[in-house]
Amino acid sequence: MPTTTRALAAPAAGEPLAPVTIERRDLRPDDVRIEIAYAGICHSDIHQAREEWGSALFPMVPGHEIAGTVIEVGEAVTSHSVGDRVGVGCMVDSCGECEMCTTDHENFCTEKTVWTYNDTYPDGEVAMGGYSREVIVAERFVLRIPDGLELDVAAPLLCAGVTVYTPLDRWKIGAGSSVAVVGMGGLGHMAVKIAAAMGADVTVLSQTTSKEEDGRSFGASDYRATADGSVFKELRGRFDLVLNTVSADVPLDRYLGMLKPFGAVVNVGLPTNPQQVRIGSLISGDKVLTGSNIGGIAGTQAMLDFCAEHGIAATVEKISADQVNDAYDRVVASDVRYRFVIDVSTIPDE
Ligand code: NAP
Ligand code: ZN
Repeated sequence: MPTTTRALAAPAAGEPLAPVTIERRDLRPDDVRIEIAYAGICHSDIHQAREEWGSALFPMVPGHEIAGTVIEVGEAVTSHSVGDRVGVGCMVDSCGECEMCTTDHENFCTEKTVWTYNDTYPDGEVAMGGYSREVIVAERFVLRIPDGLELDVAAPLLCAGVTVYTPLDRWKIGAGSSVAVVGMGGLGHMAVKIAAAMGADVTVLSQTTSKEEDGRSFGASDYRATADGSVFKELRGRFDLVLNTVSADVPLDRYLGMLKPFGAVVNVGLPTNPQQVRIGSLISGDKVLTGSNIGGIAGTQAMLDFCAEHGIAATVEKISADQVNDAYDRVVASDVRYRFVIDVSTIPDE
């Protein structure tokens, strides 16, 4: 018999989230049953629960920043045991055999990456995410949370952490690199911490300087407001990498102007509208304009190990289940310091 668990679901696009009972599948031989402790609120949860990225599946249990403890393992599971502290990020299944899956890019599986929620498994099971007390996930998609990382501050690493770690690693950011982080929300604050831990000189480009003290404490050496526009002239030609975490329309030409020749603007923020760019902004200095999508499972584990080794994790505001709808509005208003994590034990019983 499938088991049931309590969760928070959006019944329809843009509707407030409310407690519900959902079914989790029977444990398969390679499955891990996780008692969830915390689930982070990613801006992507809001985009999907409000159907801002196109048609979505409802009722929806969002949540792809999951941290908890293993409470049961299937008979074939070898990499996790009962009692282990574990995490689950944005994906829960893939074919495991294609060129992408076998090279640590399960997020680009040529058959089908199954996302943690708002998606269906090939057999028709609807994936339900981490705003829930329990989840069952194939062991291949379950990460080890290293000792020293508490579960509440580790949860946001499973999406925000890996999403910024992947491009910083790919562009070989290290000592001597100059990095600008655009937007200091959930992804942005982790980008500042991780880039600084990699040895880079980090500048935050925020709408205002209201979070400057925090930015500097996370490791930034400079913190500028973009609102008046003069910063684009002052910091022209300055950066190897501009990592854009903003989910709204952004002046891409101006960010390209801030790069050194051969530098890159990497977009991880995912705005709803199409964006415009002048090709001349790319040709002048052989610049790169690109995007980056989370990361593979091995890369996610490498990020968790890197964060533990460098003593960094997310800065969070812990909330209870009844605060989630307000938290959504606060994220949209850029009023989050710097990631909300839901204590899922507060999801009420029936
Ligand atoms: P967030 O916490 O809301 O942070 C976004 C930050 O962008 C805000 O804190 C704010 O920073 C800045 N911002 C907001 N509105 C702005 C505007 N109108 N103009 C300029 N800056 C603005 O969101 P998040 O969870 O970090 O996610 C950011 C984006 O990344 C979302 O679109 C999300 O869907 C996407 N995402 C992508 C991936 C991926 O794999 N590529 C993974 C996860 C999330 P300041 O207050 O500092 O200006
Ligand atoms: Zn996310």
